[in-house]
Amino acid sequence: MKIICIGRNYADHAKELNNPVPQNPVFFLKPETALLQKNNPFFYPDFSKDIHHEVEVIVKINKIGKHIQQKFAGNYYDEIGLGIDFTARDLQAAAKAKGLPWEIAKAFDHAAPIGNFLPKSHFADVQNFDFSLKINNEIRQQGNTKDMLFTIDALIAYVSQFVSLKIGDLLYTGTPAGVGPVAIGDRLQGFIGDIEMFNFEVK
Ligand code: ZN
Repeated sequence: MKIICIGRNYADHAKELNNPVPQNPVFFLKPETALLQKNNPFFYPDFSKDIHHEVEVIVKINKIGKHIQQKFAGNYYDEIGLGIDFTARDLQAAAKAKGLPWEIAKAFDHAAPIGNFLPKSHFADVQNFDFSLKINNEIRQQGNTKDMLFTIDALIAYVSQFVSLKIGDLLYTGTPAGVGPVAIGDRLQGFIGDIEMFNFEVK
C-alpha cells in the first residue's frame, strides 16, 4: 500500500505557512514504513528539532482505480479516519529553500500515525463534519471538511490521473490551520466530532 498526502488543501493553513493557494491539488507520497498504528507512541527522531503535527482526515481506498471520474470517486472508498501527517519542518524548510523534494521531511518512519476508521455511512455529509486535535487536553487544531479547497472526490479524480489507486491505499486530505511543534511527553488525541479516533504519546 501507499500513502498519498495532499498539501495546502485548506486556505487558512496555506496562509499560515505563506504558501499560495494552489490551482490544482499538491500531493506527495509516504511509504508504508511511515505508518504508526494502534496508538503506539511516536518516538521523536534525532534528525529534527522541529517536528510539527498536521491533523488530517484520511480516506481508505477500497477499489483499484485509474483515471477515476469525479462523479464516480465516491465508489472508491467506504471508510474515513483521522491521522497525523508528521512533518520535520526544519528539514522541509531547508529542502524548499533549495527547491528539493520534501520526502526527507515527510516520509520518515512513523511519520503517518493513523487511528480508527468510521464507515462512510456514519456521515450525513462527508464534506461537512468537524475534526480536531488536542494536545495535552488543549485544542490545537480544528477543521471542517467543508473548508477543503478540493473535495475528497476531486482529490481522488486528480491523483488517479497520475497514480493508480489500490485497495488499502490511504489518502491524507490536508491539514487546517494551527500546525505547530510537538515535544516529548505530549499526548495527542484526534477527534471526528466527539469520537476519539486516536490517542498516543510522543516519547
Ligand atoms: Zn499534511
